[in-house]
Amino acid sequence: MKHFGIEIWGDNNFIIKKETINVNHGKQPSLLEITNHIREKGYKGPILLRFPHLIKKQLDTLFHAFKSAKKEFGYSGDFHAVFPLKVNQFPNFVDELMDVAKGYNYGLEAGSKAELIIAMSLTPIGSPITVNGFKDKEMIALCFIAAKMGHNITITIEGITELETIIQVDKELNNNVKKRVVPKIGVRIRLHSSGIGIWAKSGGYSSKFGLTSTELIEAYEMLKEYSLLDSLWMIHFHIGSQMGDIAPLKKALREAGNIYAELKKRGVESLKAINIGGGLAVEYSQHPYAQERNYSIKEFSNDVIYLMQEISKSKNVPEPDIFTESGRFIAANHSVLIAPVLELFSQEYNEKSLRLKEKNPPLVQELYDLYDFLKKTNAREYLHDALDHMESLLTLFDLGYIDLEDRSNTEILVNLIIKKTIQLLKDEDANELKQLQEKIQEKYLVNFSVFQSLPDFWGLGQNFPIVPLNKLDIKPTNPASIWDITCDSDGELGFKPKTPFYLHDIDVEEEEYFLAFFLTGAYQEVLGMKHNLFTHPTEAVIRFDKNGQYEADGLIEAQNLMDTLDDLDYDTSIIDKSLKNKIEESSNLTNDEKRELLGTLYLYLSENSYLKTIQALQK
Ligand SMILES: *Cc1c(COP(=O)(O)O)cnc(C)c1O
Repeated sequence: MKHFGIEIWGDNNFIIKKETINVNHGKQPSLLEITNHIREKGYKGPILLRFPHLIKKQLDTLFHAFKSAKKEFGYSGDFHAVFPLKVNQFPNFVDELMDVAKGYNYGLEAGSKAELIIAMSLTPIGSPITVNGFKDKEMIALCFIAAKMGHNITITIEGITELETIIQVDKELNNNVKKRVVPKIGVRIRLHSSGIGIWAKSGGYSSKFGLTSTELIEAYEMLKEYSLLDSLWMIHFHIGSQMGDIAPLKKALREAGNIYAELKKRGVESLKAINIGGGLAVEYSQHPYAQERNYSIKEFSNDVIYLMQEISKSKNVPEPDIFTESGRFIAANHSVLIAPVLELFSQEYNEKSLRLKEKNPPLVQELYDLYDFLKKTNAREYLHDALDHMESLLTLFDLGYIDLEDRSNTEILVNLIIKKTIQLLKDEDANELKQLQEKIQEKYLVNFSVFQSLPDFWGLGQNFPIVPLNKLDIKPTNPASIWDITCDSDGELGFKPKTPFYLHDIDVEEEEYFLAFFLTGAYQEVLGMKHNLFTHPTEAVIRFDKNGQYEADGLIEAQNLMDTLDDLDYDTSIIDKSLKNKIEESSNLTNDEKRELLGTLYLYLSENSYLKTIQALQK
């Protein structure tokens, strides 16, 4: 893996310049420089950096791709897009998104009442809002309120009962009014075809969502009966997220296109749009042979436009407007999580730590000789001998024949032999050697929580590209696994021989070493869990001015301890009082000591759960 696979996942957003990884924008500051700049202000622990220029880039790319495709095929329908809020509802993201989206008539998609309130307040009047998912009467009423405000809002019917509620709300809210105002109506269709991959459940016949053909005809009749047919204007489907293969999309497009044409032929004049949902994938892989996406955005947009045109032509209906609700594609690359490495866990395996005796057990002595005489021509044989000896020595220890120091020497020597063998045979692509790396992996303790910041790794095994912030001019050689600071053994990104990952050998007592986790902008933040009460990390928005100079603002510090407890509905005034009383009533302390301890305690209470400093650097 050269340069941490940046040419696979990086999309030219970041570049490696000598020893650092830099933002490929403006004056190209390194991520290390930006990180240090923020940490100098006193923010420690993990930091989430947001880059609005990357949100803009994704929007530009999406709109440009469809504009080009429309031009290429001479397509007459319009193209529109909305952002599905469930992908990232954080204000520092959504505000920037709406800011860079000016000029695109871009809107928001909501799947719950709280999201709908965000959409109603942040979408400019006239830009589209779409509302999907299960809805109760109140949520449908909110859609009517939005429409009455003047919003261009489409409510997607996911089932027949929802339509019944819409009819009821229409009667209630449009009774005795100057003008009957109804939201635009879309119908989600239950696809025969389904998506693939780990997020595929959104499509297909067993999907939670959508109307079957029978229900669709029923809905059509109900809309007609209640004179709502004029509001039906959109067909909607969503085949699932992170669609790696384009084939299921094509199938879904054919299905949806034909349903659109059928309804048109039944005389649904107002029907005008097909909403293709999300699913546009992001390349997360750092390894060429593990890539997650088999198509480009150009292929994607061309397929959509081409297929819709084909169907419209053959069924002799007008070409529909195309809506997308791509979320992952828009949000994923905008944020980078930076986390400090606190410690390395197998440093004891070096020659200095050997405690050889005057007289060692013969097998230990032999291990030492194997290590001493190891060279390229005998490496494989010696390695096998060493592994064999280790088994015997560990058995001898269990039976009480050798002591703890002998056992420690055994572990160190075998570890050194494996490392040296890998080094000597590094030009041979032997599977055995790759497997061995698992045995000598270095464990990097990193100041972050997998549960909070990479929940899709924990839940679904989704990989995220990881790159250290510096030393990139040196080839990393330690097979690495990454441990977070939660007390949970699932909080580990283990070393995988199939997609090996290496980091540098460093001495954390001497130098700081940070890891950057890329493509964390979609889903991770709000899915993040407060396991062990590690909360959303400190965040900053990195903006570039006209001269290409960067500025860090929008700083929001990770929640302090008391606010974290308050969020769990603890009565923090009781906690406060209890802590105070316990110090004041302690017989261990003089009055002066009590005052001093209280001061220290309150300082700590104002900080967050993440670890603050690498102890040795604390000075
Ligand atoms: C989740 C969702 C999306 C977003 O999907 P991405 O894969 O993030 O683009 C779009 N539409 C609907 C209806 C969704 O549920």
